[in-house]
Amino acid sequence: ALTIGIVGLPNVGKSTLFNALTKNTVLAANYPFATIEPNIGVVELPDARLTRLAEIHGSAKILPAAVSFVDIAGIVKGASEGEGLGNQFLANIREADAIAQVVRGFADPDVVHVDGAVNPADDMETINTELILADMQTLEKAIPRLEKEVRGKKADAATLAAAEEAKGILDAGRTLQQAGFDTAPIKELGLLTAKPVLYVFNVDEHVLTDEARRAELAELVAPAKAVFLDAKVESELIDLEPDEALELLQSLGQEESGLDQLARVGFETLGLQTYLTAGPKESRAWTIRKGWTAPQAAGVIHTDFERGFIKAEVVSFDDLDAAGTMAEAKSKGRVRIEGKDYVMVDGDVVEFRFNV
Ligand code: GDP
Repeated sequence: ALTIGIVGLPNVGKSTLFNALTKNTVLAANYPFATIEPNIGVVELPDARLTRLAEIHGSAKILPAAVSFVDIAGIVKGASEGEGLGNQFLANIREADAIAQVVRGFADPDVVHVDGAVNPADDMETINTELILADMQTLEKAIPRLEKEVRGKKADAATLAAAEEAKGILDAGRTLQQAGFDTAPIKELGLLTAKPVLYVFNVDEHVLTDEARRAELAELVAPAKAVFLDAKVESELIDLEPDEALELLQSLGQEESGLDQLARVGFETLGLQTYLTAGPKESRAWTIRKGWTAPQAAGVIHTDFERGFIKAEVVSFDDLDAAGTMAEAKSKGRVRIEGKDYVMVDGDVVEFRFNV
């Protein structure tokens, strides 16, 4: 499964948030890996379409898509030098598909800030700097090796050129993600600053409804996406019954919990989308990458489905919703037969035909 690594300086509320994430996993018997790995938390992607599909098909069960998060031990200044947990940190982060950086925005004077004062911009810079330094070390080792390999015709000149270009970007103090740099030629180096990043601002309750402050913080990280939550509130929400939780959220002027937001934005950051299947047994969302074809999508259900793919019967959720029943959608000509080159669209409701 694709995972998002949660990072942040000490005392920003990472553990508080992560506790909420792992408690949330209790409901997720569908994600066995999450109960095996204690540092993994799973959040289901809220999807109102599934409720409607279950109603149309009389499904017994609803299975949403999910995003998994891995807790990565605290980063500190000097992590790239191998200080403290540094090396382990870098190894863990290398394995994540994207990074969620928790940034402290709450003011509590009882909780010491590692750098003396709460300053989200400084926090972000501290972490970016460590990641940039780590990547520079990687490249400083890789470039002489690549030079040799190019001379011995064991590596492409283009690979070396990409490594040198990447180093130039980092030397200028930018991450590869910020520069929009395509790391495909040097993928094996596992450069950290190439990973997509989202920012989680852990703020005081009143900031959740403070549009001006939120805009200011969002601006700091744009074009990366920002999620605003109060980790303390999230850890309370997770212990409440759904209707009580909704009441608490509404009293804070929120329509959605921070964890739900995190799942949604995480999903976007990973470049994922869902398609849907529905029947009497279950209505279910399946996770695929944007741009995947029908056979690739079928392969997520079962590898045999991809190999034996014949065709897909597809109706967009909106059309099915408007028609009210599959039969009505068919009679309106809304149900299409698609072949192996069909590129999936988010919200497609699909039934695959395949040879076994
Ligand atoms: P970590 O070091 O990043 O994992 O931070 P923790 O989750 O351990 O939080 C550090 C301290 O800040 C703890 O005493 C938390 O109770 C407190 N804390 C975490 N989130 C919030 C928050 O949103 N508001 C306030 N006031 N305190 C928080």
